[in-house]
Amino acid sequence: MAGEEEYEVNNANIHYIVNLRKATCDCKFWEIAGIPCRYAALEIAQRREELETYTDVRFSKQKYMRAYGHCIHPIPNHSYCPEEMDVTPTDLKPPAIKRMPGRSKKSRRKEPGEAA
Ligand SMILES: [Zn+2]
Repeated sequence: MAGEEEYEVNNANIHYIVNLRKATCDCKFWEIAGIPCRYAALEIAQRREELETYTDVRFSKQKYMRAYGHCIHPIPNHSYCPEEMDVTPTDLKPPAIKRMPGRSKKSRRKEPGEAA
């Protein structure tokens, strides 16, 4: 324990510094995902606090309802769908073979120590 907000976690001899106030951890999961990592979650649970208070606001119910609150209109059947464009290439050919400089190899290379 390093302090009220900052502490050290040891997992398989790898030390992680977790800072609850800054919402950071050396494993970088918390900074990237916005959700406390397992090291931070363990400390939050031991303090009997809610994990949601440390989770990024973009995962809140208000943000979710705002993102998915608009109406998605149903389509009665497939004929209402717009025509699909055919994007299949009609004349697709392999690239031209380019000869590299130098003699071409006719036999495989022998391993070192292999009988000739
Ligand atoms: Zn972490």
